[in-house]
Amino acid sequence: MVSKLALLGATGSIGFSTLAVLREQAPQFTLSLVSAHTDHQKLASVCREFKVPVAVLTGIGDPAEQASLRQKYPDMKLYFGEKELLNALRDEDYDTALNAISGSAGLRASFAIAGRKARLALANKESLVMAGHLLMPLIKKAGVELLPVDSEHSAIFQAIGAHPISEISRIHITASGGSFRDLPLADFGSVTPRQALQHPNWSMGAKVTLDSATMFNKALEVMEAHWLFGLPYEKIGAVLHPQSVIHSLVEFVDGSLLAQLSAPDMKLPILYALSWPHRLPSELVQTDLLSLNRLDFAPVSPERYPLYYLGLEVAKTGGILPTVLNSANEAALRLFLEERISFPEIHELCAAAVQGYPNIAEPSLEEIIEANRSVYAGIIKSRC
Ligand code: NDP
Ligand code: MG
Repeated sequence: MVSKLALLGATGSIGFSTLAVLREQAPQFTLSLVSAHTDHQKLASVCREFKVPVAVLTGIGDPAEQASLRQKYPDMKLYFGEKELLNALRDEDYDTALNAISGSAGLRASFAIAGRKARLALANKESLVMAGHLLMPLIKKAGVELLPVDSEHSAIFQAIGAHPISEISRIHITASGGSFRDLPLADFGSVTPRQALQHPNWSMGAKVTLDSATMFNKALEVMEAHWLFGLPYEKIGAVLHPQSVIHSLVEFVDGSLLAQLSAPDMKLPILYALSWPHRLPSELVQTDLLSLNRLDFAPVSPERYPLYYLGLEVAKTGGILPTVLNSANEAALRLFLEERISFPEIHELCAAAVQGYPNIAEPSLEEIIEANRSVYAGIIKSRC
């Protein structure tokens, strides 16, 4: 059966890997809607190659620029802004949407997809971090599937299989350790954005690469796992695994550990999310077992990765605080990339943002969006 797909964040790293999967699997999937923020050239080339009928650029608000792009691409049905994206998600014809928008900007789209009762393949972990308590019930009510694209969660999903949650004693989320896993602690104060953007194992977008260097990404993934699999935080933790070959492990009550392994390449979890409950033949990711000399594991160091531990504390408190922390981190990353703060200050800014913030136990979507906006703006303003 041909599946009709909407791909949000089509010009990014996950978008690029998804297009490679679609190319190999043609004509199994067709693209009926794509989005990007501002990269119209890349989006236009995706539309040409995959004959996509509808495209949305969320980050171009100037009417004159919109008119000139409509002129430049007369064959494209082009929309602009987040509102138009949400309208397209409501109205266009697709049965699965892959949300690969980066950061908190992907939140509303996840709700639009679930609200429209389409299957959600989720790369945008921030949707669950900020609003898992609202999104999971909506998915259940809509009677649709939420399929993880994040490699760790895809691994956990595959390892759990048909087992009930009561048979799981612990989930171990593996972490590569990011760009500075071997850097002496004394050197952290002088690292540059360029160095932070060099991931040792994975090729990814800037935000998730920086979040790997601080390991805030693992805190986000612990929260993502909590909502996806319905496990309490006491049963979820991260373990350092520098080879990134085991993508996570599930430990069952009888002591057995099940893991999923492959060369580190996002095309595999993307293909699984799109083909589930089946497996499609593919040659995109090959794993040479004989080249795997060793598989190492180590605990996550609190001195090297304080933001991971701050994230765990905030996760357990819950409410609006995960949104506040995530937003503070997004602002701090921007300041770090603009070389206005040092790498250790990312953690300091995040800790200061959650300290004393008045929590809301069960925030509404609008309260989440407002907290996200105001925390981000407040931090950026404080450093101008
Ligand atoms: P990229 O930065 O590579 O791509 C982001 C995509 O989102 C681009 O298409 C970009 O458009 C678009 N975008 C950026 N800002 C906005 C905005 N404000 N509103 C709407 N669209 C926007 O990110 P990744 O592909 O690396 O990551 C995407 C998501 O997937 C993230 O949530 C990340 O955590 C998650 N993820 C990524 C992994 C990876 O390997 N890359 C692994 C697991 C999860 P434009 O090009 O026009 O700027
Ligand atoms: Mg991941």
